[in-house]
Amino acid sequence: MKALVMEAVGKPMVVKDFPQPECPPDAAIVRVQACGICRSDWHMWMGDWSWIGFSSHLPTVLGHEFAGVIEEVGKDVKKLKRGDRVVAPLSQACGTCEDCTSGHSNLCFGGSSAGGFGQFARLGYADYNTVKLSEAIDFVAGASMGCRYVTAYHAIMDQARVKADESVVIYGCGGVGLSAAQIAASAGARVIAVDLDDRKLELARRAGATDVVNAKTTDPVAAVKELTHGGAHVSVDALGIAATCQNAMLSLRKLGRHVQIGLTTQKEKGQVALPIDLIVLAELQIMGSSSIPTWRYPAMLEMVERGKLAPKQLVTNTIALDQAFDVIDQMSRFENVGISVIDRF
Ligand SMILES: [Zn+2]
Ligand SMILES: [Zn+2]
Repeated sequence: MKALVMEAVGKPMVVKDFPQPECPPDAAIVRVQACGICRSDWHMWMGDWSWIGFSSHLPTVLGHEFAGVIEEVGKDVKKLKRGDRVVAPLSQACGTCEDCTSGHSNLCFGGSSAGGFGQFARLGYADYNTVKLSEAIDFVAGASMGCRYVTAYHAIMDQARVKADESVVIYGCGGVGLSAAQIAASAGARVIAVDLDDRKLELARRAGATDVVNAKTTDPVAAVKELTHGGAHVSVDALGIAATCQNAMLSLRKLGRHVQIGLTTQKEKGQVALPIDLIVLAELQIMGSSSIPTWRYPAMLEMVERGKLAPKQLVTNTIALDQAFDVIDQMSRFENVGISVIDRF
């Protein structure tokens, strides 16, 4: 099959012929129709997250934000058949461990989905992880439902439990930040977006942010405190570098809730200094948010079908597989604006 292959950390990826994935008894093979390009792909390409046990066996095919059609199912798979339109969460949960059986399949790393930068990708524990897409949701919209959009949904709705009329500040207006802005706005919140790039802030406005702050020219913490008369109810770090994480927490009002979505880079290696005294005295809450439990999909998909959420509106470019590496490379310099989805393989 044709695929964009990662052969070594940090070396340019190339489109070439690559063995099609095999299908174990519990798995399904998806003919990929669309795949989003996520900063997590860039992190994996950089060799990041070894400090939390993530690494790729090389050569490999990245790409975890894909939607497509079932091509083949393993002999133990009961709920899927060839031709089903599907999407799957990033974490391929086992379905039987304590995390899975208690409703937290997003915390089970039975395996990770990848392979969306190729014509065919494998989904493990397919009965448990695969979510069927209705005809009302096209593949480009569906492609965001593996990672960025669902991660933002879980963070805003389940973890922070954002309520109407609360203020939410979002640091970082890449794919997950824009998704969080749209979802928080649709929940009735006042959304303030912070970034260093006016083009990304314009996209945040279109996604539903009522106020935007360019942290290159304006102190974002002071700006948020002024806009919200004392601080935001909820802060989101949608990037994962020390400055955004710290500024996000400092932007909160008393009793504020911080949600950390971004995982860190080589520079932090997971360690960021936190304003502990403030956390104590202001009774701040800090929570992480990772992917989404599979059982949460139906509620979200229903909102997409009703037009209450519009993930496709956030897609700025649809591209061919041959153009995908350029987008990943641009992420090194934060040059990419908006969300790119591969829809030609
Ligand atoms: Zn599990
Ligand atoms: Zn992702």
